[in-house]
Amino acid sequence: MLKRHRYGCIEAGGTKFVLGVFDENGKVIARTVIPTTLPQETLNAAMEWFDLHAPFCGIGIASFGPCDIEKGIITNTPKRGWENTPIADIIRRRFLCPVGFDTDVGAAAQAELIHGAGTGHSSVVYITVGTGIGGAYSNINEQTKARTRPEMGHISVTRHPEDTDFDGICPFHKDCLEGLASGPAITERWGTSLSKMEYPEKAINVIGFYLGQFSVTLAATLAPSRIIFGGGVMGTKELIGTIRASASQINNGYLPTDFHQTIVRPGTGADSGLIGAYLLAKAAAL
Ligand code: ZN
Repeated sequence: MLKRHRYGCIEAGGTKFVLGVFDENGKVIARTVIPTTLPQETLNAAMEWFDLHAPFCGIGIASFGPCDIEKGIITNTPKRGWENTPIADIIRRRFLCPVGFDTDVGAAAQAELIHGAGTGHSSVVYITVGTGIGGAYSNINEQTKARTRPEMGHISVTRHPEDTDFDGICPFHKDCLEGLASGPAITERWGTSLSKMEYPEKAINVIGFYLGQFSVTLAATLAPSRIIFGGGVMGTKELIGTIRASASQINNGYLPTDFHQTIVRPGTGADSGLIGAYLLAKAAAL
């Protein structure tokens, strides 16, 4: 394999950077994980590792946000030190190759559409439910990207009848979807995560109700072929069934969407961000 057919891939997360080198067939040649500390330290460590595998015909970056996708900049993130980091430019200058850039959720949506649970379908929404709630829409005809990905996690939701005492934790809206159904909202409300609860049934019903509402909103506005739920909170296996049931109940036969078919788990597993970065690298190199 000639080295020039290699693609460098970065899944830049708030706690860790996952780095990968792919060949032109999408096979992983090498991968590593480094902790996310301060930008200079983390990016230097990433570039030193990539030096071992350079040159590349393209590099893809799937980054935590919010981001300016056109400029390849992490913008007003609360993550200390990372505000206004021109991550794509830094990488481009070092390796002198085309660089593709998207949000981590946007890249994961693309990976799921091409190689995951959306394969054979025309459009997906990929949602991650973890430290925050983020979502991105991707369809096969998507030629241009918006300057910023929409912040789907911060929509307003109707309260579950048994969830009226909790204020919500979003610093902007308190009880938006993220403020009520993200991992930190679960821990704040019930003292522990879904996966560690002794009797999680009520919590699963409440969280499933909010994510079910979200699914109906997505079906009504974007009508994606697949609504894909990933992220740490989805590690609780029973949750996906509750989301499907809640969405069907809330929809009440109005939209023709079959939520039991439409709402699915990711097909690319934990690698959706890295595979998305590979697709970005390949597209940038064309
Ligand atoms: Zn919010």
